[in-house]
This record gives sequence, C-alpha cells and structure tokens, in this order.
Amino acid sequence: MTYQPPVRDFAFLLRDVLKIERYANLPPFADAQIDTVEQILEEAGRFTAEVLAPLNRVGDQEGCRWNQDFTVTTPAGFKEAYAQFVEAGWPALGADPEFGGQGLPAVVNLSVSEMSSAANMAFAMYPGLTHGAYAAIHNGGSPEQQALYLPKLASGQWSGTMNLTEPHAGTDLGLLRTKAVPQPDGSYKITGQKIFISAGEHDLTENIVHLVLARIEGAPAGTKGISLFIVPKFLPDADGNPGARNAVKCLRLEEKMGIHGNATCVISHEEATGWLVGEENRGLPLMFVMMNEARIGVAVQGLAQAEAAYQEAAAYARERVQGRSLTGPKNPEGAADPIIVHPDVRRMLMEAKAVIEGGRALLLWTALHADLAGGSPDEAVRQKGQDYMALLTPVLKAFLTDRGFLIASDAMQVFGGAGYTEEVAASQYLRDSRIAMIYEGTNGVQALDLVGRKLAANGGRAVMSFFAELDAYAQAHAGDEALAPFIEGLTKAKGELQEATMWLMQNGLANPDNAGAASTDYLHLFALTGLAYAWAQVAEAANARIAAGDTDPYYANKLTTGRYYLARVLPETTSRLAKLKAGSELMMALPAEAF
Ligand SMILES: Cc1cc2nc3c(=O)[nH]c(=O)nc-3n(C[C@H](O)[C@H](O)[C@H](O)COP(=O)(O)OP(=O)(O)OC[C@H]3O[C@@H](n4cnc5c(N)ncnc54)[C@H](O)[C@@H]3O)c2cc1C
Repeated sequence: MTYQPPVRDFAFLLRDVLKIERYANLPPFADAQIDTVEQILEEAGRFTAEVLAPLNRVGDQEGCRWNQDFTVTTPAGFKEAYAQFVEAGWPALGADPEFGGQGLPAVVNLSVSEMSSAANMAFAMYPGLTHGAYAAIHNGGSPEQQALYLPKLASGQWSGTMNLTEPHAGTDLGLLRTKAVPQPDGSYKITGQKIFISAGEHDLTENIVHLVLARIEGAPAGTKGISLFIVPKFLPDADGNPGARNAVKCLRLEEKMGIHGNATCVISHEEATGWLVGEENRGLPLMFVMMNEARIGVAVQGLAQAEAAYQEAAAYARERVQGRSLTGPKNPEGAADPIIVHPDVRRMLMEAKAVIEGGRALLLWTALHADLAGGSPDEAVRQKGQDYMALLTPVLKAFLTDRGFLIASDAMQVFGGAGYTEEVAASQYLRDSRIAMIYEGTNGVQALDLVGRKLAANGGRAVMSFFAELDAYAQAHAGDEALAPFIEGLTKAKGELQEATMWLMQNGLANPDNAGAASTDYLHLFALTGLAYAWAQVAEAANARIAAGDTDPYYANKLTTGRYYLARVLPETTSRLAKLKAGSELMMALPAEAF
C-alpha cells in the first residue's frame, strides 16, 4: 500500500481548529492564507507519496555504503530524489526570506515534515539536520557566517550535521574531549572523534557543514567550557564555493537496527579547520537552539512513523479475512470476515488513531505558539508562545516517540505473522521508529528536563499559564452540552496533573530522587492531559461544522475517535498519578549488585 498523506487532517486543524486566518496580519502568516496553505500541503503530499515513499523500502534494504576513500553512497534513488526535493524548493519552506527562504509558519513546515518523515524517515533526516544547522547559525553566527552559509543551507544546496556525541560523552556532554586550538588567522584546528553522526557523510550535496562541539585549549572542564564551531567538509573559497578538502572524514558507518538509508557516521576531525560560532565557552546554549528545533522534529518522526504504520495496518485489517465476527457474519458470502470486525483488532487501530490525531492536534497547537512567539506584536503573546514551546517540547518529543513505537508494534500485531517477516513494511516502521526514543536526548532525559528545568523556569510561569488556560477553556464551555464529555475528561485529567505537580513540588525538592523517579510518569500524565485539551478543541470545531449542517462523516468520525480517546486512553492518567506518588524509595532500595 502507498502512504496516503493526511492532508485533510492538516487542513481541518489549520482552518477549523487553530483558525490560522486570525493571524493573517502577522509576518509568518502574511503569505500563508489558508487556501495557499492547502495547496502547499496538497503538493507536499503528492511529492512525498510519489517520490519519497517508493524509496523507503529501497533505503531499508540497500542501506548506505561506506567507500575506501571515506565517502558514503546513499541508496539507489536518494540522490535523484534529493535533487528533485531541492529543485521544488521544499528545504526553503521555513527559512528566513532574507536568506532565500520562504518564511512560512511552523504549523505549515511541521505538517510538511510529518509527511516526508512518514513517507521516508531516513531520507527526511538529511534536510531535517540541515535545518537544525541553519537555525544554530541563524541564531548565533556572525553576519559573515550567516551570509556565507545560510542561503546554501536554506536552499538545500549544502547540508548540515550536529557533531555532539563522543564515545565517552553522550547524555553528559560536559565530558567531551574534542579540542580546538586557536590559529593566528582567527580560525581553529579541531581534533577529536565524534560517533553516531547522522547524515555525517553522503553524496547528496556538494558540501556538508558540520556544527561541532569542542573545548578550546585551556577552557574550563564540564559544560561551561564547550564552544560551537562550523567545520565544513570543503573549505569555502573566496567566492563561497566549495574549495580545499578539510581534514574531517567518515571513518565508518554504524551498523544499526533501522533508518538504514541515513548515514550514521563515526567522524574524525584531524586538525580540521573550524570557525567559532558565537562566544567562546557558550556553545551549549547555542547548540540547544538546534537541539530544541531537532527535538520537535523528532516528535514529528514519532507521529509520522505511527501514522504510516497505522495506515498499513488499517488497510490490511480491511482485507485480511480470518474468523467470524462475535455478533454474526459480516461477510456471509466469504469464507470468513475481515479481521477489522474483531474488537481486539479494533482496539489496536482505535488506540493508534486516537493518539495520532490528538497528538497531531497538540503538536500543531504548540507549533502555532512558536509562530506567535516569533511573529506577534504583543509582548505577552510572544512570551506565552516561548513559554509553551519550552514546556511542551520535551513532552511532545518523549510522548510521541514512545507512543509512536508502541503504535508501530501494534501495527505489526495487526499483520499477524506476516508483520514479523520482511514481506510487508511493518518491521521497518518498528525498527525505524525505535531510534526516536533515544536520540536528541533520550526520553528519560526529556522527562528530567520537564520536571527539573521547565516546570521551575521563571517561577513556574509556563505551567501556571498552561493550567489557567485549561481552566478558562473548561469554564468557557461549561454549558456546551455537545462538548460535555470532553470538558469532563479534561477537567479530571487536569486535576490529576495539578495534584502530581504539587506532589513533585513537595517531594522532589526534599529528595531529588523522588523527582527523577516520578519524571517519566509525570511527562506521560502531562501529555495525556495535553491531548485531552487538543481533543476538546478538535471536538468543538467538528461540532461547529455539524451544527452548520455539514454532513460529511469526517466530523462525526472525529467525535467518535475523540470519545474513544476519553474512554480508553485518558484513564491512564490515574495510574500514572498513582505510580509517581509511590516515590523513589523502592526504586532506589536494592544495591547495584542485586540487579
Ligand atoms: C542512529 C543514531 C543517530 C544519532 N545521531 C546523532 C547526531 O546526529 N549527532 C549527535 O551528536 N549524536 C547523535 N546520536 C547520539 C545520541 O544522541 C545519543 O546516543 C544519545 O544522546 C544518548 O547518549 P548515549 O548513547 O551516550 O547514552 P548514555 O548517555 O550513556 O545513556 C544510557 C542510558 O542512561 C540514561 N541516562 C544517562 N544519563 C542520565 C541521567 N543523568 N539521568 C537519568 N538517566 C540517564 C539514558 O537515558 C539512557 O537510557 C545518534 C545516535 C544514534 C543511535
């Protein structure tokens, strides 16, 4: 089956739920009237389904090839597809018009990213990382660096990477050893080995711009001594074209479980020439710009893999015939009924649908706040936008990738034995989606970021504002009969989330292990509540369509899926609350030798 881009869903969310027409006077939306946006999404859907999706299996089966001259060859068809991708202008969608971009809002970019990631995650990572590198230079680079690199990164002519991880320094970047030695001409010589570098070497672009974390000789130990450098594969000549080969090379490719079409490289910097981005020893905050962007990108990957896997499973469930419906044959002419009649198969498909559609709504709602943070003339709106982005980034990253993998696993289950073979795509989705829980900060680290930093930031301003927004929404719709179950579910979940937050404040400070032990359950409780809010808004918009006389079953189906979320997914908030309140005592009690 070919991937069917959910353009209808994006259009409904942007037009009816988020009502982006309201923001037509704000810069990112000026050229993004809803009709134009729908055309862009249609076009992106066509491109991803026709060009990227057919290469997904090829990428998985063939993988990338390392060559003796330290180059890497991407799977058959990737190079041509990338050229088409650049030619059509897709990399430039969200980039700044000053550097050749189209400046479209995040809500549009992320919708397009979901489609490319669903069609071919390994391929989509090449432009995804480029955009992260673009964001770091846009944010912290000098005007000269911006003029040299941004137009080429924005257009996709050059690609980008992020070089953080070293064999002994993963989560704890304070341990990194790659060193930078200042040169008389203002450049640096960078020496060290980086591992697991996505898109670190390939044949898609004429140059690769590595953004590298390294320690300048004599800098303090730990995170306070880390600086960020631009290390291009080919040093730009006087005209800004690729010149001499730099001393940075791919020593080998990692053998890995999935995303075979993306080159995961061991990168060696051997006195490579690099240039400092921003100030000395201030590399981590700059890299965080890139990482935050990338974390939302990874949340999108979780959602996208779930959608693609779910679509395949739903199509199979309509066709595969086995057994009879518990309530009498539904396909009496045939030897058996299609498996979609069985409640247990429905359970898996409905859970996937409810989490995917609610997750997509919450993700785009958050992206809208990123757009408002950048584009609103009102300081309070900008601040709230920034607060919500910071608060929800770890929530979306960890929740959507955890669930994305579980949905891919359920999709395999729907296929039965065929799912475990390579006959169908189910195992690729399961393998590809698994990495999203690990990179860009493991999901455990996202949960710690949420409870340790994001809740407390600015005296708890973001979370208090979020709670106040949920209360105000529930109050404003208290008399809305048609929305009653959604308001009831949201109110209950929000009460539990607030109780969990209080528990954390009281017990996490007294014993930090309590905060660590509670963090993952807290993050999931947060996300489930966020999805309840998103579903309420979706239901409100669907009700409005129905009240206006629209008889398209799409809206009634939305309401049923939302009610399924309330009845069969949201109750998990109660067990999450109970688990986190159990504290850390039993978790920490056994000595290490007992494991
Ligand atoms: C396919 C792939 C692509 C990648 N792409 C890139 C890339 O492009 N650029 C790049 O720089 N890196 C990349 N990475 C590296 C990735 O970001 C790291 O693997 C990840 O951050 C975890 O680091 P680690 O592997 O060293 O695990 P560790 O840091 O050793 O963690 C091991 C376990 O301990 C837990 N843990 C560690 N510290 C803590 C703590 N303080 N509290 C609680 N739990 C903790 C972790 O959650 C994890 O479960 C990639 C990795 C893979 C596999």
